[in-house]
Amino acid sequence: MSEIYRWQQEIWSKLMRNRQFLGHALLLKGKQGIGKYDFARQLAKSLLCTAPMADHEACGECLSCGWFEHDSHPNFYLVMPEALAVISGGSGEKEEGEEKSGSASAKKSVSQKISIEQIRKLTDFVYLTGHQSGYKIILIYPAETMNTASTNALLKKLEEPPENVLFILITHQAQHLLPTIRSRCQQISMPIPDVESSVAWLQQQAVSDPEGKLAAAGYAPLSALLLDKGEYAAHYEQFIRHIAHPKQFDPLMLAGALQQTSLSTVVSWLQKWCYDLVSYHTTGKIRYYLKQSQAIQALSEQISLVECVRFTRELYIKQQLSHHPLNSRLFLEEMFITYAVMMRKE
Ligand SMILES: [Zn+2]
Repeated sequence: MSEIYRWQQEIWSKLMRNRQFLGHALLLKGKQGIGKYDFARQLAKSLLCTAPMADHEACGECLSCGWFEHDSHPNFYLVMPEALAVISGGSGEKEEGEEKSGSASAKKSVSQKISIEQIRKLTDFVYLTGHQSGYKIILIYPAETMNTASTNALLKKLEEPPENVLFILITHQAQHLLPTIRSRCQQISMPIPDVESSVAWLQQQAVSDPEGKLAAAGYAPLSALLLDKGEYAAHYEQFIRHIAHPKQFDPLMLAGALQQTSLSTVVSWLQKWCYDLVSYHTTGKIRYYLKQSQAIQALSEQISLVECVRFTRELYIKQQLSHHPLNSRLFLEEMFITYAVMMRKE
């Protein structure tokens, strides 16, 4: 399935009406799991299509569209961390929800970062390969995974943009990009669908309990889809089972079970959980784990608010650290032990 999501139609039409707005570099920004990656691919496909339709969407039938669908378009270049490329097989259908890993990070050496070599290779793409005459598109996803060296290398290219090349950068965390990168791009804030449209879309995808999963995914529909099936969903359920019963839960075992899942994802699950504990304790409201309201209610009565707020702050720092390569098992063990100790105090 490769359409523009309904919540993106307006921004799509706006961009298509003002194509000069595209310039030579676009930055699509917005939270993870709302379809930015799919949008960027549709945009690239339609710009490369030789017979676009009236609404400027790609025809899906021409030679160019065929190449694009088989990930072999000579004028399209995708740059992403190795860890993502492994799971998406390069094509990246709907993997935007997560930078997760599964079998991918079982290979410990797989990089979570975009390297300077990857950016350097763009020079060959721009000047040596592809159809010299045609438009060339470079997609960088997610841009915040560039390290300092690769960011600087890209910056040089953006300062002297090659002709007929469009850079599309995607970021979940625009604040982590250098201001000089941001200022050289046309920035587009990608829309977040409202709850109603998200639930309707999840229902179309045959997701069970769409409301509950949407809330648990922080109201990002593509992330909610991931919670429905497969290994990722199984890990998530395992997490909930343990975390909701802190008296019985074994931090070391859970850390072992989840070490193949992206650290950033696991931290965000626990962040949302603690948010709900604090929120229920202070306001009686639950934002994310609607299905676990009973457990949250019971636990929130036991917690020390001060400690829970302090732990929530620690998780925020953990979230930043989770993007750097380290021993994921130790990282998770430490985090879960702290949680268990905090919850067993009373
Ligand atoms: Zn076409």
